[in-house]
Order: sequence, then C-alpha cells, then structure tokens
Amino acid sequence: MAGKPSPRLIKKLHRLTRPLNSSSPPIVDTPELNFLKKPEPHVAKPSEFNAGKDLILELDDTQKLFSSFSTGKLIRSAINVHVAAIEPVVDFGTWVMQSKLMDTFPVREIVLGTIRRTFFEHFCGGETAEEAKRNIEKLYDAGLRGMMVYGLEDADDNESCDKNLEMFLQTAEASKSLPRSSMSFVIVKITAICRVGLLERASTLLSWEHKNPSLKLPWKQETLTLFAANSPLYLTLNRPEPLTPQEEEDFQLAQQRLQKLCQRCAELDVPLAIDAEYTSVQPAIDYLTYSSSILYNKDSKPIVYGTMQAYLKDAKERLFLACKDAEKMGVSMAYKLVRGAYMTRDLKVASSLGCESPIHNNLQDTHRSYNDCASFMLDKIVDGSGALLLATHNLDSAKLVASKSKDLGIGSKNENLQFAQLYAMSEGLSFSLRDAGFLVSKYMPFGPIEKIIPYLLRRAEENRGFLSSSEMDRQLMRKELARRFLAAIS
Ligand SMILES: Cc1cc2nc3c(=O)[nH]c(=O)nc-3n(C[C@H](O)[C@H](O)[C@H](O)COP(=O)(O)OP(=O)(O)OC[C@H]3O[C@@H](n4cnc5c(N)ncnc54)[C@H](O)[C@@H]3O)c2cc1C
Repeated sequence: MAGKPSPRLIKKLHRLTRPLNSSSPPIVDTPELNFLKKPEPHVAKPSEFNAGKDLILELDDTQKLFSSFSTGKLIRSAINVHVAAIEPVVDFGTWVMQSKLMDTFPVREIVLGTIRRTFFEHFCGGETAEEAKRNIEKLYDAGLRGMMVYGLEDADDNESCDKNLEMFLQTAEASKSLPRSSMSFVIVKITAICRVGLLERASTLLSWEHKNPSLKLPWKQETLTLFAANSPLYLTLNRPEPLTPQEEEDFQLAQQRLQKLCQRCAELDVPLAIDAEYTSVQPAIDYLTYSSSILYNKDSKPIVYGTMQAYLKDAKERLFLACKDAEKMGVSMAYKLVRGAYMTRDLKVASSLGCESPIHNNLQDTHRSYNDCASFMLDKIVDGSGALLLATHNLDSAKLVASKSKDLGIGSKNENLQFAQLYAMSEGLSFSLRDAGFLVSKYMPFGPIEKIIPYLLRRAEENRGFLSSSEMDRQLMRKELARRFLAAIS
C-alpha cells in the first residue's frame, strides 16, 4: 500500500495538472536509500527556479519535489507527520501538556524531553537564533526562504514588553548574517509587546467608538477603517471606561515599540509581518498595524504586513474598506492572508455571551472568503497598491492564486506576491510552488521549548485526523519513500 497515492489524491492531482504540464523535466538518477546523502539533482536558489516557464503546480513527481531531502530526513518527517495525525496520541499529548502534571517533577522533564526530540525538532527551527539561522540556510539551499518567529509568551508589564522587543530586534538583525533574501520576513506578535489586558481595553474602546462615532479617543492616531457594517461588536455591550493616563502612556509605549521595529526592518530592507490573534484583541492589533502602515508603506515595496483572518465573517468587507482608505492616502496595503487559528477560543467566547459566532458558519464560506480576499489583493498588486503573502496549506487556494496571478501578468518573481507555509508542514505544496517559480517561505518558530508549546498545541489541533491538510504530505512522502526503496533494490 505504501507509495500508492489514494484515489482522492489522484483526483486532486488531476485537478491540478493542466495540459501545459506534459513536458516534465528529465528524471535524473539519484542515489536512493543513502540515509545521509541528499539526492544529486542540483537544487536551485529561489531565483533560479523555472524562470520563464509556465506556471503549474506539479505534485506527482515526488522525486523532484523531495530532491532536497535525504532519505533519513524523509523517513523522520514521514514518521512525525503520521504520528501527529493519530488522534488518540494528539489528544493524550494535548491533555498532558495542558494538565497540572506539567508542574510536577519528573513528568515535566520527561514530557518536554520527548517533545524536544520529536515534534519540536520537526516543527520548529531550534531553541536559539543560531540554530534557526542554520535551518534558514538549509531552507535556502532547498530553494525556499524563511520567516524567523521568536516564540514569546504574552507580556504582562512594560519590562517584559521591552525585553520581548529586544528579541524581535535581534531576530531582524539576524538577517544581516544570512544570505541575502533568505529571510523573507520578520514576524511580530503584538501581545508580546503590549499587555493583553491593555489590548482588550483599547479594542473595546475602538469598537464602542465605531458604534458611537461621537466618542472621542484622545490617544487615537491616524489609522484606517477597522470595522465594517457586519463586524460583531458583542464584546462591547456597555460603554467602556476611558483609558487611564497610565494606560494611555503604556499604549503609546507599545506603539513606539512597534515603530522602532518597523524602522529597523525598513533599514534592513526586510518586511515585518504582524500576526493576527483572537477577536478580543484584534481591533487594537489592526489599529497599531494600520498606523504603522501609514508611516512605512509609502512606496511600492511595503514594509508592514497586517494579517487578515478570512474565517471572520467581516474579513472581506474590512479588507475592502481599509484598502479604500489606504488608496486615498497613497499608502500601499500589504496583508498576510490566513484562514485563522483561534476558532475554538473565539467560538467559546461568543457562545458564552449567547452571541452569534464571528466565524463563518461552515468551512465552505471560509474558503470562499479566503479566495475572494486573495483575488481582491491580486488586483491591488497589479495596480501597484498592494502586496499579498498567501499563508496557506490549502491546495485549491494556492492553485487559484498561482493561475490568477499568471492571467494577470504578475511575474512569479514579483516580491509583492509571496506564498508561505508553516515550517515542516505542507512540504509538497511548498516545493511545487517553488518549482513553479514562486517565492515561497516557511514560517519558522524558534525559542525555548516551553514558550513554543502554545504554537505546537495549535498545530496539533489543526493536524489531527486523517482529513487534515497534512494528508497530502503523508501520501507524497510514502510515495517517494517507496520509489526510493524500489529504485534501490531494482
Ligand atoms: C505562514 C503562516 C502564517 C500564519 N499566521 C497566522 C496568524 O498570524 N494568525 C492566525 O490566526 N493564523 C495564522 N496561521 C494559521 C492559519 O490561520 C490556519 O490555521 C492554517 O494555516 C490552516 O488553514 P489553511 O489556509 O492552511 O487551510 P486548510 O488546510 O484548508 O484548513 C482549513 C482550516 O480552517 C479551519 N476553519 C476555518 N473556518 C472554518 C469554519 N467556518 N468551519 C470549520 N473549520 C474552519 C479548519 O479547522 C481547518 O483547520 C498561519 C498559517 C501560515 C501557513
């Protein structure tokens, strides 16, 4: 059975393969089943891949897709993605990591040690910046780029915000010692540079202002439209108290931290992508993002990328409105487009308040919203007023954007259109986009294992079960392992 793609995968592959795809490159003989040595074919740098060829996402040539993986690495990856899909294992691991057992010796040490040697090593870039840099270089050798994401806990006072800012700045500095353009983005989490409680307070005040435009927020600076007519405002049922002078000062400090990071990224010429989080803090995150975009996105290569979560019912309208404002101000809008990763949390809050869910009622609506937002941003790229980082593992969305970008004449080396997948996830998709000539990055968290656990838990939730998007990778890896095995014994 190993190595035989399922009928579902074959159907998927057929949908992806267009007649233009018939001339596949010659197959190069590779040293099979040598566990350390990588197969021979030259692996090009991102700029060398398929320059000028037709754009096709080719997934059936696993030899080409996994040419940068030694057989040892392929086996380890296959084991990890298979284990991560066994629901009872994931359920048990998640339960242990969230239980009080983690406060007891030696359970904590045993669990962390096991995670370190398995999922952490697989899904993360390492515990230090040096380890992460080495992994970015490996990605670059394989024709991909890296986004270094320092895993940080939520900050709870100004001192921890300042320390966290220092870590983000150091991450940006790392780009200087890496091959040029191998680090595609620096990533920042606003909850690490501004207290969560303060972000919640600012978010409720911004929502209340949207409901009652006569309200004046003295601390509010120039920004873009944050809400749409269909934005859920259930978190702000009563008029909130204004920010205290201390809160105003702290919020200003948070804004200055973000601008310091933007300024450094602008000097280093590396864009900064601001992660999206849960709905109770997102309005304040958008506010901070847009105020910085106004300052730093004045030319056609934007520095600040906000994140739009397409699973939110109001995502599309908010995207249109913010872009319309930006256009009037001569600001270029740049988005990392995601489906959204805080579904459980956001649904729980809405249902505890007896309110309608802010998230689309079904996955089809989320897919439609995602693809509509992507299409809209592609048009912005064409007219020179936008940039899109398509952050997804979804094959249909990636294919849609790849072919629409071709129809619109957006060159695959246009920096304003990039693709990204999480580190060690959807490898087949990343490699096929790379082979089609696009700029592709891997979002790579690094840092002390304790700080990365919330990230690993979110991935576990997404990866569980045999219907998750990792199914395709599991099948492709099995197919390539079987191919190498057969080639070695024949
Ligand atoms: C590079 C990168 C950066 C990211 N940054 C962020 C970030 O800043 N903030 C953030 O929130 N997430 C972020 N994510 C995670 C992302 O939001 C998704 O959780 C993840 O990528 C899975 O979505 P997908 O597009 O890959 O789609 P698919 O593989 O098609 O998965 C669909 C997912 O959508 C979920 N879903 C969404 N809406 C619904 C619905 N209405 N009903 C049922 N299920 C639904 C499903 O659980 C499923 O996991 C990032 C992802 C990547 C690849």
